[in-house]
Amino acid sequence: MTRTGGLLADALAHLKPLMDCESISEDARRRLSQPNRAVEVEIPLRMDDGSLRVFTGWRVLYDNTRGPGKGGIRFHPNVTVDEVEALSFWMAVKCAVVDLPFGGAKGGICVDPKQLSRLELERLSRGYIRALLDVLGPDRDIPAPDVNTNETIMGWMADEYRQAAGQHRRGVITGKPPGHGGSLGRTEATGRGALQVLNIWERRNGRGDAHPTIAVQGFGNAGYHFARLAHDAGYRVVAIADSRGAIYREEGLDPLPIWERKHEAKVLSGEIYCEASVCSEVEVDYLSNEELLGLDVDILVLAALENAVTEQNVDSVRAGTILEIANGPVNNAADRRLEERGLTVIPDVLANSGGVIVSHMEWVQNRMGDYWSETEIQQRLGDRLGDQADLVFARAVGEDESLRSAAYRQGIERIAVAMDGLGSERYFCGDTGQ
Ligand code: NAD
Repeated sequence: MTRTGGLLADALAHLKPLMDCESISEDARRRLSQPNRAVEVEIPLRMDDGSLRVFTGWRVLYDNTRGPGKGGIRFHPNVTVDEVEALSFWMAVKCAVVDLPFGGAKGGICVDPKQLSRLELERLSRGYIRALLDVLGPDRDIPAPDVNTNETIMGWMADEYRQAAGQHRRGVITGKPPGHGGSLGRTEATGRGALQVLNIWERRNGRGDAHPTIAVQGFGNAGYHFARLAHDAGYRVVAIADSRGAIYREEGLDPLPIWERKHEAKVLSGEIYCEASVCSEVEVDYLSNEELLGLDVDILVLAALENAVTEQNVDSVRAGTILEIANGPVNNAADRRLEERGLTVIPDVLANSGGVIVSHMEWVQNRMGDYWSETEIQQRLGDRLGDQADLVFARAVGEDESLRSAAYRQGIERIAVAMDGLGSERYFCGDTGQ
């Protein structure tokens, strides 16, 4: 099937030129051009006032040749099946880029979770699992948190699966709370991994000792932990945005107090410092999200949603490097334009892979029934990312291609090798390679 229009079609368009090479068999090309399976479910939810509402949810398995499906669950009013399919495709590529024994999957519910009470959210999360019991499982398809879902929601979902299965099968979901099989270090893993990838790239380019300026779009799980760790590592975080707007301070912002204040007051504002009972707020400038994208910083970090940079606003970007923590934040047309302009884009399938790497560790620990220290988790994360990022960067330099092409090639070739391992057209037509 040829896809036209939409997010998945745009994502596949990125892939097209990479597929036209000797190392990718025709069979692999065909199999990777659409998802294996997309399941749609209608989830009835009893509201607190006694009324009944029905929400639509999806679980898409893009490919499971290299292992069970793996990918988060998103709660958002704009979720569509096309978005979930595109996200499942990126998961398949990402797991292969960092050589995890997983395929790619993703899930979502079209809902604004901010309009639900805590109990309604719990019932909806449990309803999602009940509706998808047949397709999920530690050896089938393993969800995790994504936009607007977190470890508490993963805990409810794992508990629902446990009740239905009548046994503990903790590896069915990752990103769970500690005490329910959750791994140490999972909550901050995406941000930590993104910083490690950025550090490797900066060192490779001889900028290891500089203190580059950073603007961060998206101040949720991934963006906040990245900003906090980057600040602690000596980067100057000058701007931060959430969905309502951005704050800017040339001397730099401290993400930790801003995060704490955001959770109390629900708005982004300058850090508050208190001594005894006297508190003062650091002055900041308020910007729109579009103004943040156009800031003259060294590194623009995209950690919100897909299509943040498109052909409409790409020419306003002035940063030298873009770090993609969100999935698909730069569309295909904008990516081509950035490449023409010589900007470096550190692509999502590498930059945000820290989350799924630690999810894999959680799954391994759940299967062993034995748990690692945070130091061990961080060591393993650093080792895997160091090896796989080095391969991508060396390939990009050696073959004079963009980091995105090099990363996609690394992932797609690994998936194609696994597919061809079961026999391809070439093999069945007589070329056994013996
Ligand atoms: P989250 O829900 O915790 O945070 C999302 C943040 O983006 C919020 O601060 C929200 O206000 C902000 N936002 C939304 N629209 C915005 C806009 N137009 N401008 C500026 N900010 C906006 O979600 P998250 O888990 O941090 O995920 C963010 C991105 O990272 C997503 O693309 C997700 O798929 C990707 N990602 C997350 C993980 C993970 O482990 N959480 C792993 C890999 C990739």
